Amino acid sequence: MTNNPDEFVNKSAMNVMDGVSNSHDGRKKSIRKKFVKKNRDISIDDLFKKIKAGSRLDLAKGITLLESIASHDKVAAQDLLLKALPHTGNSIRIGITGVPGAGKSTFIESFGLLLSELGFKTAVLAIDPSSSLTGGSILGDKTRMEKLASDPNTFIRPSPTSGTLGGVHRKTRETMLLCESAGFDIILIETVGVGQSEIAVRNMVDFFMLLALTGAGDDLQGMKKGIMEMTDLIVINKADGDNEQRARRTMREYRRILHALQPVSPGWTTTATTVSSINQIGFEEIWKTIKDFKKLMKENDYWETRREEQTSDWFREMINDRLIESFFSEPGKKEEVNKLEQELLAGNLTVASAVDKLFK
Ligand code: GDP
Repeated sequence: MTNNPDEFVNKSAMNVMDGVSNSHDGRKKSIRKKFVKKNRDISIDDLFKKIKAGSRLDLAKGITLLESIASHDKVAAQDLLLKALPHTGNSIRIGITGVPGAGKSTFIESFGLLLSELGFKTAVLAIDPSSSLTGGSILGDKTRMEKLASDPNTFIRPSPTSGTLGGVHRKTRETMLLCESAGFDIILIETVGVGQSEIAVRNMVDFFMLLALTGAGDDLQGMKKGIMEMTDLIVINKADGDNEQRARRTMREYRRILHALQPVSPGWTTTATTVSSINQIGFEEIWKTIKDFKKLMKENDYWETRREEQTSDWFREMINDRLIESFFSEPGKKEEVNKLEQELLAGNLTVASAVDKLFK
């Protein structure tokens, strides 16, 4: 380990690598194409070998390739994923959500360190739909999860987003698969409490938990029922000092509400518990809950069924995305939509007839 911070950044798993660039070497396009293809075939093979052998830098490089929007990278990215596929599926996929300030990064740091102590390899991924507004990622700040970032059993990947939410979770799923092929036992996917991204994460993980704060009963009643119905566990964080009693009261209140809700995972009873992330208290209990959950889901066959359903849904979502993309990429289509919208608003067309015109 070095004391030079720049060197640390370059070697750390937090380092975001550049994508594969498309450089022009001065040769004729046809020759160059062949060369690039051949060269890329070799390097993808090589890249995957290094990822499989546990190289963090190459895993980061691979993820950057998956995230690239350049069309030549898309082919290489799918090649890489195809190589990874036979080695995927062996992790426990865990989603964590909560409003900003709930303590997600502190929680993940404590939980990740416990998992590391237990000998597990954990990959932490983040989905942050708001980062396209701020221009960075919620994990971009290197001071977040400082201890965990230098833990040899843990890989942290900030995922800056620049496109639609659909694009974000598609890349996160692929990233998750690549991490599995690199031998990670646990994938923690963090998202901020924004409805759509929570649904996206719920649809790619085995176990989903909500990190909540203490609050009066009225707040809980006002809380969106939808999110509570998606969770397998509600964790009330910051159960320490003066807040401890309040956290316990909140926990009981949540349990009372949960009792009346339909559980999202068949046979499982969603419950609430408390932790103190800064004092690392309550994490063994959470790990035990997740292990019990896995055991039950394996016994009732829902573990695999849910994953199959998620893959099918992903496939269908991608078809939908592709249809929308190709519809709007037709020359003049956007203008036609705008024009018809004006006519519609002027009362000259019905909605159905305007849509019919677009598909003629
Ligand atoms: P995030 O925005 O959800 O990632 O939240 P952070 O992990 O950045 O935490 C927000 C604030 O809550 C920080 O000031 C943390 O130090 C504090 N915090 C997080 N967990 C705990 C906890 O268990 N107890 C107390 N007292 N403070 C906490």
